Amino acid sequence: MRILLILLFLTGCGMTVPPIDIIDGVEFTFPSSNPIFNQYKNSFEDEYSSVTGGSINTSNIRINLVEKMDNSFIGVCSTWKGGEEIFIKESYWNVASEESKETLLYHELGHCALKKGHNNERYRGYNVSIMNSYNLPDHYIEDMRDSLFEELFNSSTEGIVVRIDEIIGD
Ligand SMILES: [Zn+2]
Repeated sequence: MRILLILLFLTGCGMTVPPIDIIDGVEFTFPSSNPIFNQYKNSFEDEYSSVTGGSINTSNIRINLVEKMDNSFIGVCSTWKGGEEIFIKESYWNVASEESKETLLYHELGHCALKKGHNNERYRGYNVSIMNSYNLPDHYIEDMRDSLFEELFNSSTEGIVVRIDEIIGD
C-alpha cells in the first residue's frame, strides 16, 4: 500500500509542480544572504563533507526570498558575473514542509555550489536525483533522503538504486 501511494504521488507531482531552472544575468540582486538560510547552507556543507570527505564553501552564495519569479518557478540559481545567487519564492516557502524546504535548497545549491545540471533519470519508475526538474513529493523525500543526498554529492546512483529495490522488492 505504501508503494502504491508513493507511485501516485510521483506521477501527480511530475505533472503539476512547477519546474526549477538556471538563468543567466549580470549582477547581484541582494547585498547579502538572508540568515534564515544559514542552517541549510551549514548542513549542506556538513553532508557534502561526510559523503565526499572533502569540503565546500557556500558562504558567498546569496540566498533570498522573492515573490516575483519567472514562469512558475519556486527556486532559481542565477549565475552572475560576480558569482551565484539563489532566489526562493516567498509564498511557496511560507507554506512548504521542512522536507520540501531542505530539498529545494539542496537542489538550488546543487546548481550554484556543485555546478550540476538537471537529472531526470529514473530507476524502476522512481527519480534517482533531487536534481530532477520537478519538485519531489515529501513522502518520497522522507523515504529516500540519505540516498538522494548521497547521489547529489557523489553522483553515484548505487545507494538510491539499492534503496528503491528495498522498497519495491522483486
Ligand atoms: Zn533546477
